[in-house]
Amino acid sequence: MKTHAPAASSSSSSPSATRTAELDCLVVGAGPAGLTAATYLARFHRRAVVVDAGRSRARWIPTSHNCPGFPFGVAGPALLEKLRAQAVGYGAEIVSGRIARLERDGDAFIACADDGTRWTARYVILATGIVDQMPSMPGLEDAIARNVVRMCAVCDAYEASDDRIAVYAPADVAIRHAVFLRTFSRNVVAVRSEAGEPSDACARLAQEARVSVLPVARSLEHDGRCCVFRLEDDSVHRFDTVYPVLGCNAQSELATALGAQVDENGELHVDGHQQTSVDGLFAIGDIVSALNQISVAVGHAAIAATSVHNRLPPNFREDPEAQPPSAAELPSPGGA
Ligand SMILES: Cc1cc2nc3c(=O)[nH]c(=O)nc-3n(C[C@H](O)[C@H](O)[C@H](O)COP(=O)(O)OP(=O)(O)OC[C@H]3O[C@@H](n4cnc5c(N)ncnc54)[C@H](O)[C@@H]3O)c2cc1C
Repeated sequence: MKTHAPAASSSSSSPSATRTAELDCLVVGAGPAGLTAATYLARFHRRAVVVDAGRSRARWIPTSHNCPGFPFGVAGPALLEKLRAQAVGYGAEIVSGRIARLERDGDAFIACADDGTRWTARYVILATGIVDQMPSMPGLEDAIARNVVRMCAVCDAYEASDDRIAVYAPADVAIRHAVFLRTFSRNVVAVRSEAGEPSDACARLAQEARVSVLPVARSLEHDGRCCVFRLEDDSVHRFDTVYPVLGCNAQSELATALGAQVDENGELHVDGHQQTSVDGLFAIGDIVSALNQISVAVGHAAIAATSVHNRLPPNFREDPEAQPPSAAELPSPGGA
């Protein structure tokens, strides 16, 4: 087994080396949440490493128009690059890899990567996100890049205002999302992704919002400008925009293996400091049971990183010539 500890200088690297010093904090995941936490921790002069498997949801974003501070929009990959440059610029170390196991070791945690690299850390911040269930469709990535398939109505329904919109999901889910989208367009329908009738409550919602519920789709394609559904009754329907809502997999296994509590979607419950129900284990961003948005993820990150800093032993600036105080002279750590 290799053991990895932070390098003295800023870097973005592959895991390799051999030091055993305990980190102040290990951050798992380098999407907007994890990268922001890394910037905060580095600016608190804390020893933190970020380990990342490289699959941020933000990489799918063609242009985000609701990200604060970008009045002309920002592409997901460009935003990730800026957040990474900011973290590394303050000395954060970002390592490529996937944490496969997280264990308790007294007051600390031991994290093991797929390749056997191990980190010991006093605190861990999980920023592992979710993975969307995508529809089966030729050229899906291209469809998202061209905004004919969109993944998040809160993010970008404004840009689809007055489009012909379909929500593709099981009946009740499709109706609830379609009703939300009626704020943006008169022309919204629900297309069933599987057999099944809507509940009475959802059927009423659909009627009140004038949302039609179409039969189950047999196929979904796009031609670069529109999406085309072929339904099980052989009818063909074209839409400017399709929102698939097929569920997602919360990447919370590292936490649940330690007993952390999750909601019905597998997303983590946290307290006001972003701490999970496991002491010392924090969670931020989409993996938390909350609104899945970049602005929420970076807010979570600020709260968690500050809580971690406040719970760690003080790291006072000292005169390099002076003798360090003995442990008995140090105050006990303050609360976050
Ligand atoms: C098409 C699309 C458009 C969107 N548009 C917008 C928008 O306009 N505005 C907006 O606010 N939001 C938008 N979002 C949502 C936004 O992308 C997410 O809210 C945001 O990326 C969440 O950040 P995060 O850091 O929590 O998770 P992510 O960005 O998903 O990052 C999680 C990271 O953790 C890594 N990871 C997971 N497990 C492990 C492990 N075990 N070990 C190591 N690394 C691991 C992953 O590989 C990934 O790199 C959009 C999403 C999509 C799909």
